[in-house]
Amino acid sequence: MLIPKAAWTLVVPILASAAAVNKHTKLQECLTAEGIPGPANLTFTITPFNLRLPFTPVAVACGVKAGLKINPKSGGHSYAAHSLGGEDGHFMIDLKYWNSVVVDNTTYIATVGPAGRLGNIAQSLYAQGKRAFSHGTCPGVGVGGHVLHGGYGHASHSWGLALDALVEAQVVLADGSVVIASNTSNFDLFWALRGAGSSYGIVTQYKFETKPAIDQLINWDLKYVWTKAQARQVLDVFQAYANSTDLPREMSARLFIAASGVNFWGVYQGTQAQFDPIFNALLAKIPGTPQTSNIFSSDWIGSIKQWAFMDITMPLDYDIHENFYSKSMMTNWISAPELDKFTDYWYSVANSNTRDWYCIIDLHGGPTSAITAVPHDSTSYAHRNALWKFELYDRVANNVAYPAGGQNFLNGWVDTVKTTYPGTLGMYINYADPGLTKHEAHTEYWLDNYEKLSKIKTKYDPYQVFMNPQSVNS
Ligand SMILES: Cc1cc2nc3c(=O)[nH]c(=O)nc-3n(C[C@H](O)[C@H](O)[C@H](O)COP(=O)(O)OP(=O)(O)OC[C@H]3O[C@@H](n4cnc5c(N)ncnc54)[C@H](O)[C@@H]3O)c2cc1C
Repeated sequence: MLIPKAAWTLVVPILASAAAVNKHTKLQECLTAEGIPGPANLTFTITPFNLRLPFTPVAVACGVKAGLKINPKSGGHSYAAHSLGGEDGHFMIDLKYWNSVVVDNTTYIATVGPAGRLGNIAQSLYAQGKRAFSHGTCPGVGVGGHVLHGGYGHASHSWGLALDALVEAQVVLADGSVVIASNTSNFDLFWALRGAGSSYGIVTQYKFETKPAIDQLINWDLKYVWTKAQARQVLDVFQAYANSTDLPREMSARLFIAASGVNFWGVYQGTQAQFDPIFNALLAKIPGTPQTSNIFSSDWIGSIKQWAFMDITMPLDYDIHENFYSKSMMTNWISAPELDKFTDYWYSVANSNTRDWYCIIDLHGGPTSAITAVPHDSTSYAHRNALWKFELYDRVANNVAYPAGGQNFLNGWVDTVKTTYPGTLGMYINYADPGLTKHEAHTEYWLDNYEKLSKIKTKYDPYQVFMNPQSVNS
């Protein structure tokens, strides 16, 4: 591989079976011959974001030679610990030092290393000429995995996903070659990377088209406690709103549902005078009176800080973890009976669950959304038409075991829609659900793009070197 050896962080193999020990030996011999060191702190390097899934990878830049499956780790935020392999015994390559952000002051193209974390990237782009692109809200997420599978945040309804800003990727392929993927070079690979990237290689450099950061935004956080009937009415209001031209492209809207009530969150790219009539018309349709209401204007970085809920400057040795199960739904129009069942479950099973759960509902697509405006076949991201994006999350304290069978809670909630939903319910691989079988993952994450993805996999990685339990098959 052409990548400088000194830059890799390597994980020492810890294997038990004879075959595995053999692979380990081959790997170790190769590493020693190449002068590649092991990591200084193995435990730190292999502790996943989701503590429920503590997989043990093996290491080496000679992984292919030793017959190992390889997984790059950028920010390490995969919900299914896919950057550790998603199961024991993989070769994990930690890219954590590859985190530079440089904006070209003529083209405003940003060249970004895969392990850049979103909070640091946003600040660095802003410092280099007040530039920005759309991405998620959590400042600790690595751009590496985020952009290869979507990348949704408060700017996405207006500007599209993070992957829509990607104009070029430098990729190390399974045969060790380094190629450029873009609209003019290896376009099939570029198509596949933007939605299913972890199955095709190691992206060592990203180029993003940036925009001028918006200097005036309106942010809001309204806390409601609705009756079940009111909550059900709100779902109708929001679904109709997402599906209409009343929702301005410049607005993002999100419901954060928890046991204590619902926060209505959002961001409007524009002035207070532009915002007021639009927002007041929407509020008039929402039942009840908010218990608390915080509506304020900010600049770009002020808005990023507001929705991060933590400091947005991330240290190199970021060390935050949670212990959870999560699911997603990426749906088009949801029928009234399905919304009835969803709300019944919310007000019975969910509200009586004493664990720390939440459900985030975003107005993702629709006639005014920049995500839907991108032609459906131009990237492998399969959910452009999804009106709704749901994230369901159920966590326990880091020092206790997630309960056996605890997954039934969110599986049951998703089933209220899934069992009668016409066609395949989409799911978002950036919220990877390790409970899905490989076939379910292929179908739900990539819908009708899967067949094409599989053909491209056969071309670029026929022996499935880049593999996790849900990756695209060659
Ligand atoms: C606290 C938290 C908040 C989040 N908030 C949001 C949000 O607001 N919006 C949103 O859309 N998503 C969000 N996510 C989901 C997040 O986008 C995904 O988990 C994302 O894949 C993480 O990327 P990473 O580089 O940090 O993770 P990693 O675990 O390093 O990587 C994730 C996957 O991508 C692969 N990969 C990583 N780097 C590369 C590379 N350079 N080349 C090829 N493959 C690579 C890995 O092998 C793995 O399969 C959040 C996740 C967490 C934990």
